Amino acid sequence: MYRSFKRTMNAAKKPKKIANRISKRCFRNKTTTISAKILVSGGVNKEKHGLNRLPPEVKNIIYKALPLNADRACLALTCKDQAAAYEALKTEKNKKGYDHIVPKRLTEIHRLQLLVRLKVDMPRSHRLCYSCVQFIDIKDPDNAGQWGGSEVRVSGGKATKQAMIEGPRCPLCISAKQLENAKHKDTYKKYLALADKVDLKK
Ligand SMILES: [Zn+2]
Repeated sequence: MYRSFKRTMNAAKKPKKIANRISKRCFRNKTTTISAKILVSGGVNKEKHGLNRLPPEVKNIIYKALPLNADRACLALTCKDQAAAYEALKTEKNKKGYDHIVPKRLTEIHRLQLLVRLKVDMPRSHRLCYSCVQFIDIKDPDNAGQWGGSEVRVSGGKATKQAMIEGPRCPLCISAKQLENAKHKDTYKKYLALADKVDLKK
């Protein structure tokens, strides 16, 4: 009984994933946050790196000079000390003194900029889909199938709207696109009904 229930649930997982892609309900775009749990665990060895010995004001100047949120997040990910400086800077309400404009509203492009930077450090089992903007576990049977798009077109860390169209896209995104283009609108509507109910305004 349980086994057949589990099978049914698993079978429903894939259409749901496709539905979430059609209605673009995969995730919300948020500024990268380094969990406080990570910051307090272990401890920070300040002596290891010259950059960490700098006073907080200088660290802030460095962070503010970086062009993108994604660049700041990447520096934060290098060590706990940097992560702490990054989180402290984020608490500043007025975004003054930045060399480049800090976006007020975050989009999937900002998310892509970060994921493109993390790509090299990801295990081979996870491939970046430029369409749904997430790392896809290629070993998960739900995600099996042929990928579309081109790795070459997005070489050199391209992370633009154009890259989202031309870059590699996962089999689920391909299915979603096919359904969107399908003449059978009934099937399309059935899929949409499966999408997670997420209030994006929250
Ligand atoms: Zn995808």
